Amino acid sequence: MKQATIIGSGLVGSLWAIYLNKAGYKVNLLERRPDMRKNPISAGKSINLAISYRGWKALDSIGAGDIIRKSAIPMYGRTVHHPDGTCSFQTYGINNQAIYSVSRGEINSVLMDLAESSGNTELYFDSYCTGIDMNKNIAYFEHNNNGVKFDIKSDVIFATDGAFSSVRYNSMQKMDRFSYSQNYIDDGYKEIILPANADGSYKLDKNSLHIWPRGRFMLIALPNPEGSFTCTLFMPFEGHKYCFNNLKTKHDVIALFREMFSDFYDLMPEIAETWDEHPISSLAIIRCFPWHFNQTVLMGDAAHATVPFYGQGMNAGFEDCTVLFGLMEKFGDDWKACFEAYEKLRKPNGDAVQDLSLQNYLIMRDKVNDPNFILQQKVEKRIHELYPDLYLPLYSMVSFSDIEYHTALEQGKKQDAEMKSFIEKHQITASMKDEQIDKIIHKALGKEILV
Ligand SMILES: Cc1cc2nc3c(=O)[nH]c(=O)nc-3n(C[C@H](O)[C@H](O)[C@H](O)COP(=O)(O)OP(=O)(O)OC[C@H]3O[C@@H](n4cnc5c(N)ncnc54)[C@H](O)[C@@H]3O)c2cc1C
Repeated sequence: MKQATIIGSGLVGSLWAIYLNKAGYKVNLLERRPDMRKNPISAGKSINLAISYRGWKALDSIGAGDIIRKSAIPMYGRTVHHPDGTCSFQTYGINNQAIYSVSRGEINSVLMDLAESSGNTELYFDSYCTGIDMNKNIAYFEHNNNGVKFDIKSDVIFATDGAFSSVRYNSMQKMDRFSYSQNYIDDGYKEIILPANADGSYKLDKNSLHIWPRGRFMLIALPNPEGSFTCTLFMPFEGHKYCFNNLKTKHDVIALFREMFSDFYDLMPEIAETWDEHPISSLAIIRCFPWHFNQTVLMGDAAHATVPFYGQGMNAGFEDCTVLFGLMEKFGDDWKACFEAYEKLRKPNGDAVQDLSLQNYLIMRDKVNDPNFILQQKVEKRIHELYPDLYLPLYSMVSFSDIEYHTALEQGKKQDAEMKSFIEKHQITASMKDEQIDKIIHKALGKEILV
């Protein structure tokens, strides 16, 4: 039987093992951490995350979608919490389209279970990959508990060991003409758990992603199945009035929340007591190329780690699997052809999802409060509702379709300029009645032209 080694049984590695089993491979899946299904370890990065079309497409294709759907919570739009305590709601799509809040640990566990149940995936935990011999297809490991070193030779090696991939660092970065960049953004993040009410009910509407946009920083909240919300405060580390380095005492934390997030503070007056339960973490964008040498290839965050503001990192990693599996169907075991086609197809999309993620941070922390942005979104959504075949807003391209990310990015820029001209040309204002706006849209789009 053909043998494959996967380094890292995170979200992408576990999913990819299932795809490889389908393709007739015997898989060794090695993970540096203990088995998260048996040990209550932190799932890392974020407790829950948003899954959208691309993620569901991959999960459905290996039969995991319906298992995850049972506990996934639809978020139909964003609830914006204004500084004065009022809220407004902005839908994400049309016809009840939603992104879904899911547990990182649950998806990962379900995928590991499915991979194991195929009978053709062997999982090794506490096994840290120290490097790869990319000429001989040998992966080297060290056991965390006893320091025992071992190696595995296989036909092909997949590095799904995340943003700080040791395969990339220890092996690929030593190769000639391997390009690499790692850029930290000025902001970090801290998670905060907003508990359920005493009766288990939610303290906020559970079917939306909550945002407290405050210009240079923001707080967001995503629902969890048992009534709590995982909230994340994104904020500069330093150099601003509101920054992590200025939050030195409980008093500082309380003062920030009272002043900037007063409605949240009312829901969680114990915020300062729980402040130290989660660390302050940093965020980076990592670009590299090529993504393969011989029979070793990078996938997911190891290839294109991004900042989390579009909720697309996992979705993009899952799409890597969908695309690579499609190429395997075309090229069979010709890994050279597969990997060349894969990196050619996916690198522009990795770059684009990173650009889109950065762009969406500005939107989330600031623009969602801007009346011009709100008007433009309203008009765009209406055009999309009335002419769904003619017009797809950028958010829908990214979250509700599998249009390539780089196409979405380019099309989004073009549409943004067109939409601004359209609003200006037709003097559309926020005070106009919906019927008036519809009339203008029909007049222009009936002729299939926007401007
Ligand atoms: C705060 C935050 C919020 C996010 N929210 C979203 C969201 O809403 N939606 C979304 O789509 N994405 C989101 N993301 C991005 C998402 O978390 C990542 O894109 C995703 O986890 C990538 O999966 P991966 O399998 O490539 O890497 P990882 O999930 O990082 O998995 C890598 C695995 O490899 C293991 N490993 C590492 N080094 C070694 C080694 N040397 N040997 C063996 N094993 C190793 C690790 O322990 C880990 O299990 C978010 C990220 C952050 C930081």
